[in-house]
Amino acid sequence: MNISTHMVRAGNAFKDHPAIAVGTTILSNYGELARRVSCLATALRENFNLTNGDRVALIAHNCPEYIELLYACWHAGLVVVPINAKLHQSDFSYILENSGTKLCFTSPDLANSLNSLRGNELKTVIDVSGDDYTRMLACNPMRMISRAPEDMAWLFYTSGTTGQPKGAVLSHRNLLAMCQCYFADVDQGAPWQTFLHAAPMSHGSGLYGLAHVMQASCHIIPESGGFDAAEVYALIENWPGLTFFAAPTMVKRLLDHPGDTDTSNLKTIIYGGGPMYVEDCLAGLKRFGPKLAQLYGQGESPMTITALSSYMHANKDHPRWRDRLASVGIAQSAVEVRIANSRGTLLPSGEIGEVLVRGDTVMSGYWRNPEASAEALRDGWLHTGDYGVLDEDGFLTLKDRSKDVIISGGTNIYPREVEEVIIMHPDVREVSVIGRTDREWGESVVAFVVPRSGLAVDITSLEQFCLKNMARFKRPKHYRFIEKMPKNNYGKVLKTTLRELDQAGGDIHPR
Ligand code: AMP
Repeated sequence: MNISTHMVRAGNAFKDHPAIAVGTTILSNYGELARRVSCLATALRENFNLTNGDRVALIAHNCPEYIELLYACWHAGLVVVPINAKLHQSDFSYILENSGTKLCFTSPDLANSLNSLRGNELKTVIDVSGDDYTRMLACNPMRMISRAPEDMAWLFYTSGTTGQPKGAVLSHRNLLAMCQCYFADVDQGAPWQTFLHAAPMSHGSGLYGLAHVMQASCHIIPESGGFDAAEVYALIENWPGLTFFAAPTMVKRLLDHPGDTDTSNLKTIIYGGGPMYVEDCLAGLKRFGPKLAQLYGQGESPMTITALSSYMHANKDHPRWRDRLASVGIAQSAVEVRIANSRGTLLPSGEIGEVLVRGDTVMSGYWRNPEASAEALRDGWLHTGDYGVLDEDGFLTLKDRSKDVIISGGTNIYPREVEEVIIMHPDVREVSVIGRTDREWGESVVAFVVPRSGLAVDITSLEQFCLKNMARFKRPKHYRFIEKMPKNNYGKVLKTTLRELDQAGGDIHPR
């Protein structure tokens, strides 16, 4: 099964359906898109001499060519290596080299710097807005190359909030199972649907784009090529049945955006990729109505570990509704989810341990990294490195990455619990909690706080607030106020940078 089968199918059965739009302008229908895919596939094989399993990188801002390139590579039997265009040149160099990429497609502004990375493996860099690309489209169409379900389709480099990124090997089967779970567990399809790519297509938005090719939705590319709150609101007003994937920080930026745009066109905002605090989730429900769905996944099991559907978000009458909003939902239908202790023993509901996953979406291993693969995949289970707890109904609440858990006086403190409280303080805009080595306690709790604009947060009031809302031993011993939370290109808070900032000392406010 080649995942590109869905493009061929849509090109036949939904020829006239709009397929790609930029801003408010439709560029092509599925008939045209499928033809372009198959012409590009011919060029990939014939002009560049690529053969089954060869890697092709995409280092581009969100653009209309992104989708056709993904499918053209699969149509031609190749493997895609989508890389976030906002990464540093040294990351590009590392990933291109590690993946053994031969050909790279890119946006015009990145072409020069990427050309300087050509070497033994990487032979050619093609700007998607240039003449070489147009010439590729003039090739004759070809039949899709057949692929086995377990053949590699997408080499997904993890976002690497610590250390070098690793390439999770994702097969056609993994991607198909992810798409099926999307419709079964995250959000149901509709006859006329539009999917906005406001988040990077190298990651969640591109992955969920596959489900939207499966049902022939129209893909909307923002003119900015990225996330801009005003633009997203304008596109919601324009496009009926609009769904998009957003990191929690993007949802927060939409909520903070002034104005009261009519959002009745909005179908669903699917958020995930990092923690969403209950306060923000409640604000989202208030602003958009019951149109939020959440997924928890990781590159190693793309977009597919658990889901909290829009029904679960809306089910206010349920006695555990609020607890469920603090959770990441239940196991998606292609996977089993368990909790285990450090010796690998499975734990009953109510006990905190590492989240393990197995099923059809789980990667076969890391590319050219047998040690890391053996570490992550043990006894048939993917060890996620996330800590969490299942309740008796199967809802998973994430605690923290195992390395982020703070052990103070021999007791585990989960930063997320502390953050959930501090974020409710009216003067706090963002918060992230880390541990600091402490002679007396082993580790002590440090809260990095971004105040709401123009406000100074009073430590005594924060301290009172914490005493009122959390166990004494969990409350921060130190507060540090910063203007901006350090985040990676996917909007995840960089706790490593916070630790460095903390070690560097400075503006510390001890209790
Ligand atoms: P990546 O492989 O870059 O997608 O990062 C995956 C990691 O992001 C997971 O292992 C979690 O730590 C975190 N993550 C993903 N989804 C969620 C979610 N819904 N809530 C909290 N953390 C999440």
